[in-house]
Amino acid sequence: MKAVRTTCPYCGVGCGIIATPDGAGGAKIEGDPEHPANFGRLCSKGTALGETLDLEGRLLAPHIGQREAGWDEALDLVADKFSTAIKEHGADSVAFYVSGQLLTEDYYVANKLMKGYIGSANIDTNSRLCMASSVAGHKRAFGTDTVPGTYEDIEEADLVVLVGSNLAWCHPVLHQRLMAAKEMRDLTIVNIDPRRTSTAEMADIHLAIKPGADLHLFNGLLTHIVENNAVDADYVKNHVSGFEAAVEAAKSESDLAEACGLPPAQLDTFLKLWTGTKKVVTVYSQGVNQTTSGTDKVNAIINCHLATGRIGQAGMGPFSVTGQPNAMGGREVGGLANMLASHLEITNPHHRATVQKFWDSPRIADHMGLKAVDLFNACAEGKIKALWIMGTNPAVSLPRADYVREAIKNCEFVVVSDPVKTTETTVLADVLLPVNAWGEKGGTVTNSERRISRQRAFLEPPAMAKPDWEVLSDVARRMGFTKGFDYSNPAEIFDEYTRLCAVAAHQGVDLDLSGLAGMSAQAYNDMSPVQWPVSTTHTGGRFFADGRFYTENGRANMLALTPRASPSQASAAYPLLLNTGRIRDQWHTMTRSGKSATLSQHYAEPFVEIHPEDAEELEISAADIIAVNSTDGHIVARALITDRTQKGHVFAPMHWSGPWAANGRATSLVAANTDPISGQPESKRTAVRVQKFQAEWFGFAVSMQEPQFSSGYWAKARCHSGWRAELAGLAKPDDWEVFARQVFKAPEAKAVLMSDAGNGTARVALLKNSKVIAALYISREPVALARSFLVDSLAKESPLQSILAGRLSAGQPDPGPTICSCFSVGANTIAEAIKSQNLRSLDEIGTALHAGTNCGSCRPELGFLLKTIYGQPSLV
Ligand code: SF4
Repeated sequence: MKAVRTTCPYCGVGCGIIATPDGAGGAKIEGDPEHPANFGRLCSKGTALGETLDLEGRLLAPHIGQREAGWDEALDLVADKFSTAIKEHGADSVAFYVSGQLLTEDYYVANKLMKGYIGSANIDTNSRLCMASSVAGHKRAFGTDTVPGTYEDIEEADLVVLVGSNLAWCHPVLHQRLMAAKEMRDLTIVNIDPRRTSTAEMADIHLAIKPGADLHLFNGLLTHIVENNAVDADYVKNHVSGFEAAVEAAKSESDLAEACGLPPAQLDTFLKLWTGTKKVVTVYSQGVNQTTSGTDKVNAIINCHLATGRIGQAGMGPFSVTGQPNAMGGREVGGLANMLASHLEITNPHHRATVQKFWDSPRIADHMGLKAVDLFNACAEGKIKALWIMGTNPAVSLPRADYVREAIKNCEFVVVSDPVKTTETTVLADVLLPVNAWGEKGGTVTNSERRISRQRAFLEPPAMAKPDWEVLSDVARRMGFTKGFDYSNPAEIFDEYTRLCAVAAHQGVDLDLSGLAGMSAQAYNDMSPVQWPVSTTHTGGRFFADGRFYTENGRANMLALTPRASPSQASAAYPLLLNTGRIRDQWHTMTRSGKSATLSQHYAEPFVEIHPEDAEELEISAADIIAVNSTDGHIVARALITDRTQKGHVFAPMHWSGPWAANGRATSLVAANTDPISGQPESKRTAVRVQKFQAEWFGFAVSMQEPQFSSGYWAKARCHSGWRAELAGLAKPDDWEVFARQVFKAPEAKAVLMSDAGNGTARVALLKNSKVIAALYISREPVALARSFLVDSLAKESPLQSILAGRLSAGQPDPGPTICSCFSVGANTIAEAIKSQNLRSLDEIGTALHAGTNCGSCRPELGFLLKTIYGQPSLV
């Protein structure tokens, strides 16, 4: 089959992929050696994409309520409900909530329909949760939302400062590029993060800052720059406004080390290093963006770069990395409620007129729309009468997720277009519309360094699925907007968008794609990755090299910034503070990555990191199940006792949702506090209470069929033999064999039971045709078993005796929890090899075990195992 060049659908690094279909609905996935984002590398998530392409769980036909419907009927209903709501309640009574998973062409059509034809700006995206504070910070400083630098800058810097960024797990290939550059030359990496993440482990210096103190730190850095004569006076004089006021505001800190929670000597080292190193790139991500002072924090970082003139030159600059594959594309075509397409401003009457004239649209939104959190508040208040959610799962991913679920239920008419049939959001829809998934759709995405790449289809869309842009255009035409939506392919949409960019560029807007306007469909199909701006004379590179910015006076703005306390503070009732984030091998709400058995072995259940002293105070032991409550929600998860997290703080990943765990939605806990400028929610800080879940029993299960659980704590994940599950309950069932038959749906299977009432253990194996099809392990304590052996044992048809024993036969060591997903190498195997073979480097581990030699995502954890064994504190 023909290999197709496309782009990874996960993070904002935007890696190129070569997909070769196997003719049976799957594809071989390889990194594209010619793509400038990754040069052939892929991380664990990208590498495992081939495991996510099957049609299990796909939405294959439109649904109205519970019944299947034809496209015409469903689209007529959507158009009618939206038109009626607009007629009866006005344009602002309808809303779209879209996604960084959409392609730029889909985003463009959604934005055009809402802002130019419906006449409202009530279109916002889940990118609001990810990088809206960076957008707002860029606009305040530069007059436009531009990431100044390129990935090469990160490699060319002498100092890379990673702020609020677990780059090793959340942007792994960019982290690999950074580490490769460090191997080649003298490059210092500083990680500023309250948690000791894998990124921190690989950094030269980890500043375990007090959570939320970033603004104190960068104000302090600005003061240090001034006091140590590191200001680039010429640059400031010629290109910067607001310098004096910013410096004055930054001086307010009396004890910087105390405010930041850092040892004075370590703080001093950082300040001197930053100030004394010209080629410095400061990379920031969700740890900066997802707070109620996110925009100010972004500007505090930019202030330091502007004061030193370290921007727009090789190896220098502030660098926001985005979470989603097309967060940048969405920003570019106006997917946020406060922007128009092509970086034109909704608040600028001249810009509005430009867009309306270009679209020849009947109207144009003349005020900002509702940002994500406000949009769902408006649903709860009954102000939104018709809501269309595209390619995202807000009932899991938004703060106060339980409230959001009720808000969606409260909306009179809800449409969800999605490739997945059952999510916490799709079950709330009045109309479900099946759309193409990754591998089936074609268009463009923009990565974190402004590089536009093609996503190309390499699989046929199944059944009735269609591209998002086509569904949107169909609805628009049915609403009576016949003229503006007669597209027949994404190339036409891209061409229209680039022509609008050309018009915008004439008005002085930075987002110039005029060099791509007028491309033929063939040229669009063949398009190589290209970094904007793309004019007829110039392509790509850094912005602001000439010191000219997109403000009215052409000068960059430094901002006077004063730290503000977060509204979320610990109290007697909620004494701990919750931070949420991502893990290495899962993505968002797991609708795609959860399909991969390989990815599901790294962490197979929801967990909460808690500091050892907090755990001791709360009488929580290793591997206990714990309940976490906030004023907004409640979850139950495994306790992971570790000093990775600071005392008084807990961390939970945001991925687990209803299909995977009984009660694991960490975002249900998160308060809906937002940054007043960007509207981005503070996902990094919520006051919570943690208690031990007083389980009477604990369990582990493996099964060839998907098990079904109805009560207690459970979390299930795919494994190569089928499914694995972790269990715990408050009350013991009467009969474990009956329980096993029910959860494994195997009433006819032969059961073999071993139990010991004295110590509370029970083991049940279910057999069909003499083959073990499921096994259940019960204990009064968290169950200690050779899990990685058991998850493979059913597929390998291991003997009943060893399956029931839950361990390998004599002489076969337990490999332990998976560290290297690509080669299924466990922590115990690696630790044993390090010790017995005296392995001293990642390369030596790779040679001995292959671990870390494919995608490289596990290399930080391998590095930590090395450090642990040779005398460092334990992380695992
Ligand atoms: Fe995909 Fe990984 Fe590259 Fe991100 S770093 S784009 S998840 S392969």
